Amino acid sequence: MSKEKTIEDVILCIVNEIAGPDAVKVASVLLNEDWLTDEVIASKTLLKLNQVRKILYSLLDNQLMLYKKVRDENSGWYTYYWTLNREGIEGLALLKKRQVLKKLKERLEFEQSHNLYRCARCEGVLLTFEEAVETYFRCPSCGQQLEAYDNAGAIKVLERKISILEEELRKLS
Ligand SMILES: [Zn+2]
Repeated sequence: MSKEKTIEDVILCIVNEIAGPDAVKVASVLLNEDWLTDEVIASKTLLKLNQVRKILYSLLDNQLMLYKKVRDENSGWYTYYWTLNREGIEGLALLKKRQVLKKLKERLEFEQSHNLYRCARCEGVLLTFEEAVETYFRCPSCGQQLEAYDNAGAIKVLERKISILEEELRKLS
């Protein structure tokens, strides 16, 4: 049942996080064709030229883009050709996944090693036993009696997420 993510999906996902949905249009075009000018990208994405330039530079700033400039012999002008820095993007994706994995493992360790108490009324109020003792087992937000939180389900979800991520990382590295 695991949903396989292709490298292309990962690239578009990262681009979306960093530069938004218009940048995804730009990146999609560049996934199919390397080394395009900003004008060609604009015509293929139907974005305005200045939008495309802004996106290209923001992706360049984040090391997600490469360019080369070619001088026109007649006019003396330079034309810039752009392509995705696939290695940079994949490296970033790897880094992000490792960070997420680390957080998930910390969370799992926390869930496994603590008795937790929650408020039935307030979303997100979750106290450790030690914290709950200090509030006399009352919710710090609303004062309602806290109840023991069975986190077996949460632990299962965390374990599943961790194993999916570890599998993805194994394939990517
Ligand atoms: Zn409460």
